[in-house]
Amino acid sequence: MRNPKWHRDEIILALDLYFKLEPGKIHAGNPQVIELSEVINQLPIFDIKPDELKFRNPNGVGLKLSNFLAIDDSHDGKGMSSYSKLDAEIFNEFIKDKELLSQLAKTIKTTVNNSTLKLALSHIENNEEDEGVKEGQVLYKLHKLRERNKKIVSKKKAESLKKLGKLECEICGFDFHVKYGELGYGFIECHHKVPLHALASITETKLDDLALVCSNCHRMLHSKNSVSISDLKIIQGGLGTAFKS
Ligand SMILES: [Zn+2]
Ligand SMILES: [Zn+2]
Repeated sequence: MRNPKWHRDEIILALDLYFKLEPGKIHAGNPQVIELSEVINQLPIFDIKPDELKFRNPNGVGLKLSNFLAIDDSHDGKGMSSYSKLDAEIFNEFIKDKELLSQLAKTIKTTVNNSTLKLALSHIENNEEDEGVKEGQVLYKLHKLRERNKKIVSKKKAESLKKLGKLECEICGFDFHVKYGELGYGFIECHHKVPLHALASITETKLDDLALVCSNCHRMLHSKNSVSISDLKIIQGGLGTAFKS
């Protein structure tokens, strides 16, 4: 049985290492390649690894890095041209923002090095529609975990009820209670505003870190282009100018 295709998070980690290595250092014997192989094996992404021994072993990680050599225009020599469409997409996405790539890779690593967090994340469901999230599955799950902290969520709702007397979406004003009557009473989602790549270093969620949003707006905030709350308000108002693709 073959192992699953490389996931976005894994490619993010591999690409980050690729940008930090001289082409001549890309091989299975490089300690950094071996270390990355170990990190990738720790990611809470695949429940089943059909070929456990070969799964992202140093050889496989080395091959993935040399796939990037084949994609990279700035490199004259040859690489392994058997790269996937997703490899090329992610390469082109981050070639202009290596800083963000490096922050994402660092946060993914910090998260999986924390055994308590890693366990908590493995209990969060995989949602196919979330696969394309810019920051990758691990950080997205971390974000969900933070948003589901019941204690802070109920404090946030209580604060809004006290101030406004209602729970409405901070972006579009949708009120579940108004729309659905009793059924929607007390319902609203909480969005964590701290950027995903900064999440791992934050241990305590403050009320101001959260925004109350309806399910539609929440989905849009997590779309592939990861727009901010203010961007989304402008898009909604019909002035799409703040949209940065
Ligand atoms: Zn909304
Ligand atoms: Zn959210």
